[in-house]
Amino acid sequence: MNGPGHRIVVWVQGCSLACPGCFNPGTHAAAGGEATTTAALVDRILAARGPATAGVTFSGGEPFQQAEALAEVAAGLADRWPTGTRMAFSGYRLEELRGPTAPPGSAALLARLDWLVDGRFEAQAGPGQRWRGSANQRLWSLGRALPVAEAGGPGEAEIHLTPDGQVLLSGFPDARLRRALSRALASLA
Ligand code: SF4
Repeated sequence: MNGPGHRIVVWVQGCSLACPGCFNPGTHAAAGGEATTTAALVDRILAARGPATAGVTFSGGEPFQQAEALAEVAAGLADRWPTGTRMAFSGYRLEELRGPTAPPGSAALLARLDWLVDGRFEAQAGPGQRWRGSANQRLWSLGRALPVAEAGGPGEAEIHLTPDGQVLLSGFPDARLRRALSRALASLA
């Protein structure tokens, strides 16, 4: 749902871009999340792999507002898991990430990524194709080639039921699914 194949997803905490209608408002505050070190995060990602795990995806929040740390993580993964692919979602456009006002570490992180989905979420642009929340967002191949069959088609979503009773919605659910799930959960409350 968050890139090609089965993937480990790292959701970073903090985003100041404030796209109206953002699907992840709980990730906007800089405070929160789970503190860790880059080395510990690399170890944790590697330990979480299964035989079918294709790679890791950085999402958020805004990964490029922590680009220096994530570039270290991506470098560690490149060394210790060279076959694993690396992808990121960003509200910045690629031109911003390559320009003079790019957040620190952006070039180093871009250099370690295979694929990037870029751009603010713009609800008025309409839904995007797979992995893109809105139609203005773009999918870039920066490293390894993207399997062509993977990139088209509509968005997909996953619903996770955790052992402690939480319901987590991930991926790119359309508005009808989000509303239906909210109603169903409200009726159980
Ligand atoms: S960049 Fe992403 S996380 Fe940040 S406000 Fe926009 S959609 Fe939300």
